[in-house]
Amino acid sequence: MTKIAIWKFTSCDGCQLSLLDLEEDLLEIAKHFEISYFLEASSKRADPPYDISLVEGSITTEEAKRKIMDIRAQSKYLVTIGACATAGGIQALRNFASLQSFKQRVYPRPEVIDVLPTSLPISHYVRVDYELQGCPINKLQLLQLLYSYSRDLRPSFSSGSVCMECKRRAIPCVMVASKTLCLGPVTHGGCGAICPSFGRGCYGCYGPKETPNSASLCQWAKDELDFDPLALDHAFKKFYCIAEGFKLSHES
Ligand code: SF4
Ligand code: SF4
Ligand code: SF4
Repeated sequence: MTKIAIWKFTSCDGCQLSLLDLEEDLLEIAKHFEISYFLEASSKRADPPYDISLVEGSITTEEAKRKIMDIRAQSKYLVTIGACATAGGIQALRNFASLQSFKQRVYPRPEVIDVLPTSLPISHYVRVDYELQGCPINKLQLLQLLYSYSRDLRPSFSSGSVCMECKRRAIPCVMVASKTLCLGPVTHGGCGAICPSFGRGCYGCYGPKETPNSASLCQWAKDELDFDPLALDHAFKKFYCIAEGFKLSHES
């Protein structure tokens, strides 16, 4: 049986919950996979090595830096799940400012908070075999990924944008119909264009697609939607705030 381990670093647990959210598919998973380490679901632990490690969360402490290296050494495949593990997450907003000033504002005793000055993705510290995008991830993509790696195959998901999914579903474009900013043209597909299907713009929770032209989208939003640079900065500075494809937008 394929041994899976699920690890958590700095995160909200939402991506791990996607696994539990598989509901009836969990019974099928139990026939093919041994869940060797998953503290969110069980206190049972099996010793390494593991075939597939699913890693949620960003690296924000010295202890986490050491632990992720151990996990890499114990795992045949290491997959990051979600925006936190793949791109530093919303907590990487602190990378743009002084950690000291955040600590002083938030905590009554800032001197006891021992963290790194940045929140960085797993790939900054170790080799990652696959990065599954989303905040949270799509549970069906997770299922497909597990079956692929259990057969030593690299999973294959479309690299198209949310716009492509939106057009396939014949959803009216919110940028055209209601002059609402939508990051769909530059955002990685995978969610099935959930937000436009409810008449709202995409806010980029699947991160930048391959070769996104965020600068062009920003220019269009300035010219056609009267967005000011600060509002655009806020639109891109969310779950993937330090991802290259979205970082460019802060400077345009
Ligand atoms: S990517 Fe989103 S849902 Fe997943 S752990 Fe991070 S904050 Fe939670
Ligand atoms: S609503 Fe957004 S995702 Fe859909 S077509 Fe328009 S810009 Fe693209
Ligand atoms: S439409 Fe955009 S913000 Fe909404 S779920 Fe999909 S990727 Fe995330």
